[in-house]
Amino acid sequence: MAAQISTGTSEIRDITKMERIGAHSHIRGLGLDDRLEPRASSQGMVGQGKARKAAGMIIRMVQQGRIAGRAILFAGPPSTGKTAIAMGMAQTLGSDVPFTSIAASEVFSLSMSKTEALTQAIRRSIGVRIKEETELIEGEVVEIQIDRSLTGATKTGKLTIKTTDMETVYDLGTKMIDALSKEKVLAGDVIAIDKTSGRVTKLGRSFARSRDYDAMGADTKFVQTPEGEVQRRKEVVHTVSLHEIDVINSRTQGFLALFAGDTGEIQPELRAQIDARVAEWREEAKAEIVPGVLFIDEVHMLDVECFSFLNRALESTLAPLVVMASNRGIARIRGTHTSAPHGLPADLLDRALIVSTRPYTADDIAEIVHIRCEEEDVRLSDDARDVLTSMAEQTTLRYALQLIACAQVLARQRRAEAVGVEDLRRAYGYFMDEKRSVQWLKEQQGNLMF
Ligand code: ATP
Repeated sequence: MAAQISTGTSEIRDITKMERIGAHSHIRGLGLDDRLEPRASSQGMVGQGKARKAAGMIIRMVQQGRIAGRAILFAGPPSTGKTAIAMGMAQTLGSDVPFTSIAASEVFSLSMSKTEALTQAIRRSIGVRIKEETELIEGEVVEIQIDRSLTGATKTGKLTIKTTDMETVYDLGTKMIDALSKEKVLAGDVIAIDKTSGRVTKLGRSFARSRDYDAMGADTKFVQTPEGEVQRRKEVVHTVSLHEIDVINSRTQGFLALFAGDTGEIQPELRAQIDARVAEWREEAKAEIVPGVLFIDEVHMLDVECFSFLNRALESTLAPLVVMASNRGIARIRGTHTSAPHGLPADLLDRALIVSTRPYTADDIAEIVHIRCEEEDVRLSDDARDVLTSMAEQTTLRYALQLIACAQVLARQRRAEAVGVEDLRRAYGYFMDEKRSVQWLKEQQGNLMF
């Protein structure tokens, strides 16, 4: 492993955020007021008030750090917003608190064992907030030279900066060049560059003479180096997950594995070293642990070994909050011959706070359909909206929401501006919902291969 445990950059976090688009992209929070009361329709959320309020209370506990060893189970029929509420929780927590979402079946992968997959998911859900001091380069800009590649995508350049007693040339990368041009930095300007984040601040010509340090903010301080030189430093705080630290320091994988999503198994010895190092950082007040949330959708798909692993993991002081969702009633616990509520063993169920979700009213469905149409930029005629609402009541909300995009393709074909009832009827004919598909399978017995 690398001699020094490194933590990577904040760019890694943006990759995780990008994954949250699609079926739930209209959800921007839980839509609660300050007293955690659900607003009728807010932040993309409609109805399901009790469950949303419960989710808000859980978030409060997360924010107050009172979640150790807890598990929450969202239980309810398909398409009643269990995943949507979990996504609303993620949005409410903000980007500084890790939120990991997995479907239980992802744990059964060929590239790693079940327990490794669960360990990675758990470590993704534990943040380490690290405080670092970065050096500020500051001085008057003498010259900026920028070379652009043929494609214009990459730029390189040189920046000459003059301080009171010397002139230094810095090599620039694309990110720094973009930062300089955003601030419209020209020769003659006095600037400060944060060496870690690349942030550029224009200080104004009189700054160098007045030495008006306070203007830089409270997070800037002076440090004397062992050589006696006085440097200005800025304190930078960033949060990475334990899993990101594991991967970055794993000799076989390297940090690019984070982007490829192919991290393989990580040696337990490496994790132990990282845990010890993080404990040291905490002692030295350089880092804090930020317990986050691990959301496991379709949790009944886990087997008994995974459940006992989870139970043990929840005992750890570093455990994240585990939020599970299931649409099963009494079901077999995978890997056993025993049936139990939601397919979960009694000891895990006993530990969990259970939040139930209920089928929506027609008004709620109509409002969700309306929100989704806005999100997908689709116009629906009034009668089409009524038809789609009743389709959702008879099938599932998810199926009805999926028909919106299909019906729009058909409406465009006939050059109509709005989706009408006929487009929905045709889309309904092309794509089956679950009930019709099961019915069709029964009728085809004997013709299909089994
Ligand atoms: P399953 O048990 O089948 O996994 P689920 O309970 O997780 O279902 P979701 O996937 O959350 O259901 O909901 C289906 C669709 O309806 C999603 O697109 C979701 O964003 C949307 N949706 C569900 N509930 C709400 C809500 N209360 N407000 C707004 N949109 C919702």
